[in-house]
Amino acid sequence: MELFVGVGSSRVRDLFEQAKKQAPCIVFIDELDAIGKSRSSGGFYGGNDEREQTLNQLLAEMDGFSAEDATVIVLAATNRPEVLDPALLRPGRFDRQVLVDRPDLSGREAILKIHARKVKLGEDVKLAAIATRTPGFAGADLANLVNEAALLAARNQRSDVAQEDFAEAIERVVAGLEKKSRVLNDKEKKIVAYHEVGHALVGSLMTGSGRVEKISIVPRGMAALGYTLQLPTEDRFLMDEAELRGQIATLLGGRSAEEIVFNSITTGAANDLQRATDLAERMVTTYGMSKILGPLAYQQGQQPMFLGDGMPNPRRMMSEETAQAIDREVKEIVETAHQQALDTLKLNRDLLEAIATQLLETEVIEGEKLHSLLSQVQAVNNLTVSNRPNLNLSGVS
Ligand code: ZN
Repeated sequence: MELFVGVGSSRVRDLFEQAKKQAPCIVFIDELDAIGKSRSSGGFYGGNDEREQTLNQLLAEMDGFSAEDATVIVLAATNRPEVLDPALLRPGRFDRQVLVDRPDLSGREAILKIHARKVKLGEDVKLAAIATRTPGFAGADLANLVNEAALLAARNQRSDVAQEDFAEAIERVVAGLEKKSRVLNDKEKKIVAYHEVGHALVGSLMTGSGRVEKISIVPRGMAALGYTLQLPTEDRFLMDEAELRGQIATLLGGRSAEEIVFNSITTGAANDLQRATDLAERMVTTYGMSKILGPLAYQQGQQPMFLGDGMPNPRRMMSEETAQAIDREVKEIVETAHQQALDTLKLNRDLLEAIATQLLETEVIEGEKLHSLLSQVQAVNNLTVSNRPNLNLSGVS
């Protein structure tokens, strides 16, 4: 972006002209959010014509590719995908998104191996042990760590880097990262581990909450400290009441595990509660699943096209009495699901402990290993054991 309006967009034009001449080639834009920020969010400072024009030019160029230009590939990176202008993500533009997560234990070891090539390692250095001690470190942090360790070795007049240099370097780097609050302390890590296993255990039993594919306590950004990934086994367009109730219980599984194990509740479940409450509210006010309130729509206007999409619409005009009845029904649904989650976790307490301990060690459990652990979950009497799929692609966090 430039001071004078129009310079940025002419640069974009030049860039794509060059790219087409050089084809086949790759255009890579780093920190895309600098120009690709949502146009509506720019209004705070009275709009920014230069940025908007630059972005418009980029959009126009990306639309302008014809079949013979297909050998120009446009790639971009951002740490803030949520602020990007939606127009950038439409088909034909940046239509494929690849999430590059922070590395897990084995990932960190592999990254350390690469950076350690550049330094002379002492006999006693165990990269696996270093990887264990660096949860939450991104690739750049690990590169920095190797660098720090090498500096420490040089300062101590040694020609190779020893394990103790790494130990000291970890402390230095962690201190830096803690300021950015990206490293969980041991207590927090433990809470997150039990929380995620809680989701997974309850989810593995509930009708309609999908097959649990992965649990992770590798932090992803500021919002999610860990996550449980559930995948549907087929496309679903309809869900029944039992499935929705199962999904709500799964959402509450994380918090329920915290209650049982630590006898206290943290702030980590806020998003789970929001989603559980939204679902319960929709069951009552939109899908007519409450016997007391009957098959009436208590919400206004259009519903989103996909289940589980967007927020509930505003309620219709209604009597105070009806509003109270709705609130009672929503509460009843959520509390029943909460009790189901608690009962399930209490019954499977040993398994909860075992999986959480393992998760704390490896940070990620997935695939066959996870399936075989979860196949040991016992159902509380009146629950149906099922792996019915759902539409919940995003999983719970
Ligand atoms: Zn959760």
